[in-house]
Amino acid sequence: MKEKILVTGGTGYIGSHTVVELQNAGYDVVIVDNLSNSSADVVDNIEAVSGIRPAFEKIDCLDYAGLEGVFAKYQGIKAIIHFAASKAVGESVQKPLLYYRNNIGSLINLLELMPKYGVEGIVFSSSCTVYGQPDVLPVTEKAPIKKAESPYGNTKQINEEIIQDTVASGSPISAILLRYFNPIGAHPTALLGELPNGVPQNLVPYIVQTAIGIREKLSIFGNDYNTPDGTCIRDYINVVDLAKAHVVAIARILEKKQKAKVEVFNIGTGRGLSVLELVQAFEKSTGVKLNYQIAPRRAGDIEKVWADPSLANNELGWKADTPIEDTLLSAWKWQLHLREKGIQ
Ligand code: UDP
Repeated sequence: MKEKILVTGGTGYIGSHTVVELQNAGYDVVIVDNLSNSSADVVDNIEAVSGIRPAFEKIDCLDYAGLEGVFAKYQGIKAIIHFAASKAVGESVQKPLLYYRNNIGSLINLLELMPKYGVEGIVFSSSCTVYGQPDVLPVTEKAPIKKAESPYGNTKQINEEIIQDTVASGSPISAILLRYFNPIGAHPTALLGELPNGVPQNLVPYIVQTAIGIREKLSIFGNDYNTPDGTCIRDYINVVDLAKAHVVAIARILEKKQKAKVEVFNIGTGRGLSVLELVQAFEKSTGVKLNYQIAPRRAGDIEKVWADPSLANNELGWKADTPIEDTLLSAWKWQLHLREKGIQ
């Protein structure tokens, strides 16, 4: 029998790719999403990619009764992957209460419902933002947590603590916290990808929109950092590789292979790329010349961060292995697909 997995935020960027990989691995998926930052069409696209239509419920995770109705309707949900969250860093500074209510309230609802419906475990979307500017690079899971730079980042830290405290209190659940580095790219079929809302804040969506002519030029935020070419360094991870990390995390929970009731893994490539290096890789892989300028630093940016993913490599048996050129090409093909469909 296929095991049933609830994916909150399953029509979103990382969620949709994860649903496909769960289905490819033989899991039965139920998606809950309030469609606040995605569209129900994504369910069709998931089906087009995997050949299987996931169950879908348009529900806000803040709606306790609605969420409970999902557990009652789809009996036997074994584990949850919790993506549903507000994620715009800048907006979180403007609307902190919205972010605290939404991101924290949603998790609390799930954690309360899990034991009631016999749900064994939860995989939580955390972020390398919890490390701030690490003192040692590459950063391991043992690095200290730094004070968050934004309410968004703070919700990730608080949610990690809420999960730790809940398990420590004797809740029968277990958890895996995945700290993502910078997810980029799209599904190789170009049927799933990131749909930025308004002007993209993230680098790769801004690059592809510039390349296709929606934006005039990319501003590179600062070239006077203490890095080899002066631009910031990040660990860019392919979204399908990232999605696969969730599948192995789910299997680890269900097969009871965890070494602790709450485990934390960095999900990155282990390789740092500067903004300029990423732009050059984009130009090389797509053959498209990018219009860019050097602009002042962006407030709150971390100078450099990349993962030590060896714990995930060794314990989960997972590795990010898609070459950056292929990843950037997938992002470009997704943008071309959006243009073809008249979406963006
Ligand atoms: N960045 C940039 N121009 C942009 C968007 C981002 O130069 O239009 C830089 C940003 O300063 C950072 C890197 O690209 O050094 C990654 O930024 P992103 O917002 O994608 O991720 P995060 O800051 O969360 O790591």
